[in-house]
Amino acid sequence: QVGSQIVDKKVDSVCPFCGVGCLLTYNVKDNKIVSVDGRDGPANHSRLCVKGRFGFDYAHSPQRLTVPLIRKAGVAKDPQALQHLNRHTADWSEVFREATWDEALALTTGALKNLRDTKGKKSLAGFGSAKGSNEEAYLFQKLVRTGFGSNNVDHCTRLCHASSVAALLEGVGSAAVSNQVHDVENAGLIFVIGSNPTGNHPVAATWMKNAAKKGAKIVLADPRVTDIGRHAWRTLQFKADTDVAMLNALIYTVIDEGLTDQEFISQRVNNYEALKENVKGYSPEAMAPICGIPAHTLREVAREFARAKGAMILWGMGVSQHVHGTDNARCLIALSAVTGQIGKPGSGLHPLRGQNNVQGASDAGLIPMMFPNYQRVTNQAAHGWFENFWGMKLDDQPGYTVVEIMHKILAPDSDPHKIRGMYIMGENPAMSDPDLNHARHALASLEHLVVQDIFMTETAWLADVVLPASAWPEKTGTVTNTDRMVQLGQQAIEPPGDARPDLWIVQQMAAGMGLDWDYAGEHHGVAAVYEEMRQAMHTAIAGITWERLVRESSVTYPCLSEGDPGAPIVFMDHFDTDDGRVHLVPADIIPANERPDAEFPFVLITGRQLEHWHTGSMTRRSEVLDALEPMATASLCGADLLALGLAPGDVATVQSRRGRVAIHVRRDDGTPPGAVFIPFAYYEAAANLMTNAALDPFGKIPEFKYCAVAIRHGGTA
Ligand code: SF4
Repeated sequence: QVGSQIVDKKVDSVCPFCGVGCLLTYNVKDNKIVSVDGRDGPANHSRLCVKGRFGFDYAHSPQRLTVPLIRKAGVAKDPQALQHLNRHTADWSEVFREATWDEALALTTGALKNLRDTKGKKSLAGFGSAKGSNEEAYLFQKLVRTGFGSNNVDHCTRLCHASSVAALLEGVGSAAVSNQVHDVENAGLIFVIGSNPTGNHPVAATWMKNAAKKGAKIVLADPRVTDIGRHAWRTLQFKADTDVAMLNALIYTVIDEGLTDQEFISQRVNNYEALKENVKGYSPEAMAPICGIPAHTLREVAREFARAKGAMILWGMGVSQHVHGTDNARCLIALSAVTGQIGKPGSGLHPLRGQNNVQGASDAGLIPMMFPNYQRVTNQAAHGWFENFWGMKLDDQPGYTVVEIMHKILAPDSDPHKIRGMYIMGENPAMSDPDLNHARHALASLEHLVVQDIFMTETAWLADVVLPASAWPEKTGTVTNTDRMVQLGQQAIEPPGDARPDLWIVQQMAAGMGLDWDYAGEHHGVAAVYEEMRQAMHTAIAGITWERLVRESSVTYPCLSEGDPGAPIVFMDHFDTDDGRVHLVPADIIPANERPDAEFPFVLITGRQLEHWHTGSMTRRSEVLDALEPMATASLCGADLLALGLAPGDVATVQSRRGRVAIHVRRDDGTPPGAVFIPFAYYEAAANLMTNAALDPFGKIPEFKYCAVAIRHGGTA
C-alpha cells in the first residue's frame, strides 16, 4: 500500500543484516522508512527475507543514542550488573552525563593519546565493525595503525570465519569465495556443512532450493538437522566435533575407489602424496563409529561428490568455530582439489559470510596481521608500500586478535604489551565474545574505553565515553557481500538528534590523535576515502570506481579495469598461491577443548536464528522481528526433554564451568541427543556466559560450537 504517491522518496541501498547482500529500496516519508522493497540485485533478484523486509524500524527506535555521553565522576564500571540489566528500560542517566561533541572528543582522544605517549603504542587497541561500510573499516584500521601506532585492530571476523580464512590463504591463496552462491544452479551436488542457510542466509538458501528442484542433490552435513534438510538428498547428522573424521573418510573413499581427478592433481595440486598417506587411517568403516554416519553412506556421498558435473561446498560457522576449525576447512579444500571440483562452474568453495560487510571489512584491513588486501604486515615489501602510501612509520609485527586483546587487558602491569585503552566502533563484545564474565571483566578494567554505536549496548555500559553513531540507512557507503560483490548504499534518512555518521566520527578521532587527514566531498568525503582504498587494493578492485558503483550498484571483484565485468568464478586456470597450485595440508583428529563429563554431560552449540541478528541490538528493537521471536529459548530433542523432566515452555537452568542462564526450553528434534542449541541474540539469557574461549591455533577463533554444560529443571527466566 506504499505507492510512489505517498512516499517522499525511494532510496536504493543494501540490506544491513547478512552477507548475502540483498539489494533493496527504502520507501521514505517524513524522514522515516515506512517500508522496504527488494531490488533486482545479482545476489537476490528482488527477494528479501523477513529481516530485510521488516527489520528496518530499529533505526527509528526511541532508544537510539542521540547525544555524546561521558561517564559520571565516581561511577564505577560494574560488569556483574550486566547480568541483570534490562537493555530496553535501564536508565543510563545515573551512569553517564550528556556532553557536546567537542568535549567528548577532546576527553577521549586526550585519554588515548596520554596512554599511547606514556605507556607505549602497544597499550591501545581498536575493534572496528563488520556492520559498517568499507570506507569506515578502511579509515578505522588506518587510524589504529597510524594514530595508535600498532596493528592491534580486529573485528568480529575473528569470531566467524577466521579459521576458514587461514586455511584458504594457505591452501588456495585467497580468502574469498571461489564461486558465487547462485552458481549452485550449475552444480550436480551441493554440499552444505556446518551451516543453517534457511535461517542464516535465507535468500542464498532459495538458490539452493531452486537448484534442488531442478535436480541438484543437496547433501546436508551437520550435527543439527535444520530446515534445508527437507530438501536434501542425503543428511549426514554427524556427531558434533567429528568433522575431520567424517571429511577424511570422504577423501579416503575418493582415493580408495579411484575417483580422484589425476590430471587436475598432477597439474594443479601440491602435497597430494602426503594427504594420501595421511588419510590411510580414515576409512569409512573405521570412521563410522566415530562420526556416527554409516560407512556405506559416506562412500555413497563421496562417489556422488566426485562424479557430479559440479560439486560446490558451502559452509558456515559449524565448520569454523572449533579449535580444529582450520583443519576442518583444510579437509574441505582437499576434498575439492582431489576431485577436481574447483575452478569451474557449479563447483568450488564458498564460506558463507555472516555479517553484511565482514568480507569487505577484512578486505579493507580490519585484521591485525594484514594491511588492506591481505598484505601481511610482516612482508617487507607490503610494509614499505603502506609506509610510503600513508606517509607514516608502521608497526611490522602482527597485532593481537579479539580474544587475545581481552587477555592482554588483564595482563600484569609489568607486561609491555598490556592493553589499557580501546576504541570500539559498532561491535558488542560484551555480548559476542566467549566466556562473557571474563570479557566483561576485561572491558571494565580498561583505563579508557570509548564506544561508538547507535544504541547503549552492553559494551557501551562499560565505556568512559559513548559516541552516538548513525544507522546504515543514514549513511552512504559501500559493503562487500559473501559473493565478492562491492555494493553501494545511499543515505535515505537523517540521523536522530546529534548522532553523526561513523565516517565523520573516525575522522574527528584521527584529528584528535594528531593525524592530518583531508577527505573532502559529500557525505564526509566517502568517495575520496573509497578512492584511496581502491588504490590500496588495486590488485582486486582497480576497475571498480566510485562512479561505476553509482551507475551499476554492484560490481564483482577481482575487477582490474573499468571495462572488466568482474570474475564470478576464480581459480579457472591458477590459484592465488606463489606457484599457482593448491597446497594441501593433511589434518588429523583434534578433540574439542572441553568434552562433556558426568558433571556437565551436554554439549552446548550456539548460533543464530532467522528472526534475530547476532547480539540482537538491532533486531530486538524491531517490532515485527521481536514479536516473531520475543524470548530466548534453548532447543533440545524430545527424548532429552523427557529424560530431564522438561516440557516445551518450561524453564531450565543451563550451566557451564563459566556461567549459567535460566531459559525456556523448546522441542527441536533436529538437535542431536546430548546437545542443546541456544542463540546468542538475547541479553536476558546471554549464551556466551557459558561458551569456552579456547582458540583454534591458526585462525585464533574461539570454540563457540562446543562446550560442556549441565541442564536442570527450574530457574528464573
Ligand atoms: Fe538481508 Fe540476508 Fe535476508 Fe537478504 S538474506 S534480506 S541480506 S538478511
